[in-house]
Amino acid sequence: MSTEGSRAFTCIVCPMGCRLEAGKGPAGVTVRGNRCKRGAAFAEAELTNPTRTVTTTVRTAFPWAPVLPVRTDAEIPKGKVKEFMAFIRGLVVREPVGIGAVVAENVLGLGRNLIATSNILAEEAADGAGE
Ligand code: SF4
Repeated sequence: MSTEGSRAFTCIVCPMGCRLEAGKGPAGVTVRGNRCKRGAAFAEAELTNPTRTVTTTVRTAFPWAPVLPVRTDAEIPKGKVKEFMAFIRGLVVREPVGIGAVVAENVLGLGRNLIATSNILAEEAADGAGE
């Protein structure tokens, strides 16, 4: 590939996991190995502005469900993921929130919220857990 700063990586957009090679040239970003347009868009973003959706868990105040699965409601810059995770480690969910509830707003000022991806707290609270 006659492009500068060529990089090889695995596409994570779908389970096919295509092996991509991308680089910047005079005509813009060149991508090889992709089987679809989404892979090309992913490769271009990886070169110019890589982002990730953060999927993890947050501690809760409820002994019967000590962690709650969460994710960001949109992608964040890849370079901010470590700082984002450090923030999340300091969180404790104290309300029996349901799926889709905002657990933390505008985290790190990135304009992204952290949302619950499980109903475990709401369902267990409704069932009288911990009583
Ligand atoms: S290039 Fe297309 S088919 Fe291949 S992993 Fe990416 S999204 Fe899937």
